[in-house]
This record gives sequence, C-alpha cells and structure tokens, in this order.
Amino acid sequence: MTRAEILYGVAAAGANLLGALAVTTRARWSLKALDAMLAVAAGFILSVALLDLFPEAIAANGTRGPVVMLAAYLLVHFTQHTIGQHFHFGEETHEVTQVVSVSALVGLLMHTFVDGVAVASSLRVSSALGALVFLAVLLHKFPEGLAISSLFLAAGAGRTRALLAAAALGAATILGIVVTSQLPVLRDYGLAISAGVTLYVGASNLVPEFQAKRGWKIPLSFMIGCGLYFAARSITAAVR
Ligand SMILES: [Zn+2]
Ligand SMILES: [Zn+2]
Repeated sequence: MTRAEILYGVAAAGANLLGALAVTTRARWSLKALDAMLAVAAGFILSVALLDLFPEAIAANGTRGPVVMLAAYLLVHFTQHTIGQHFHFGEETHEVTQVVSVSALVGLLMHTFVDGVAVASSLRVSSALGALVFLAVLLHKFPEGLAISSLFLAAGAGRTRALLAAAALGAATILGIVVTSQLPVLRDYGLAISAGVTLYVGASNLVPEFQAKRGWKIPLSFMIGCGLYFAARSITAAVR
C-alpha cells in the first residue's frame, strides 16, 4: 500500500465511525446539519462521477466501460434494495427488525467496498484524481456511518453493535483499497465499476433523501457541492 492509500483508507473509515458516534451519542447538531451535508455530498459526488470517473473509465475500457458502469449501478441497487430490505441515508426514525438492519449492512458492504476500489483505481491514474475521488468518498462517509448506526439502534441493538456496524463499512472500504491492485478484474475495470457505483450513491442514494424538501437551503447546498468540486479540482491540478 502506498502512503496515500493508507491515509485515505484510514480517514474514510474514521469518518464512518464519526457518523456512528454522532448518532450513538445523540449529537443533535449532526442531525440538523445532515440534510445540507447530504446535498453538498451529492453535488460533489455527481460531479466526480460525471466529469472524472466516466471519461476515465471510457479512456481505459472503450465501449465496454459504459456496460460495466450500468452493471455496477444495477448491482448496487440489487445489494442495497433486494438483499437489503430497507435502507436510506439519513437517520432511521421508525422501528425496524433485526433482519432489516443486518441485511442493510450486508447490502451496504458492496458499495463501501467499491468506495475503496474507487480511491485506489483513481490513485493509479494520478494523485490529483485520487485526491478528488477520496474527497467524494469522505464527504458521504459521515452520513453513511450515521445511517447504518441509527438503523441498528432502531432495530434494538446497543451502542457497541451500532458502532461495530459502521466500523465494518470502514473496514470494507480499506479492503477495497488493498485488493484493487491484486485482482485483475478491479485492475482492469475498477474505474468503470466505481463510476457506476458513484453515480448510484449520488443520484439514487443521496438525492432522493432531499428532493422532497422545500425551500432554498437544500438546492443551494446541492450546487455548493458542485462548486466545491470545481474548487477542489483547480487546487489538485495546481498541486500536481
Ligand atoms: Zn427507515
Ligand atoms: Zn460509501
């Protein structure tokens, strides 16, 4: 593992745990800030998916790239909403069964594994792209940890198990970073898989959380997320 891979992996897993801690310690600010946080993350993630990962995947795989992207998109849907019986980003506010919480965790592991694959595959392209994709991952790790922990709490689990669930997501991301250079399928198609999964996380996990909300705060946060992407891109390009 390179130094950047270790740093990004630990930071991403740490943000999963922070999100879990926010909900297990009932930090009210975190829930109030959550909607805006989800919207900023969605803007950033969609920008990275469409402006970086898509073109890079097509450059790497040609016409096969989009086919892999579609397959990856469908696979996240299958793992999160077929194996997983109930999952949404954001705090769980109603009671759920244990089967629901465990199946959601199993379903989420595929996406969080690919969070790691995305970071490692883009680091192989350039350190600038690696930094951008890492930021896209980092921005949704806090809500991701918060969501799984609150789901576990809603299913009646104690705080320790709720934290462990978020830790499992972080571990899956680190595993994704570690194995990307070892597995031929990830070495060849890692960018295309990441593009499809990242599109799903942005457009199909995050956007539905806030699209019904009224007012200007949320759409503004969404656009700020896109603006942050362009700011980060010019900074990483300048550093390179
Ligand atoms: Zn729910
Ligand atoms: Zn994720």
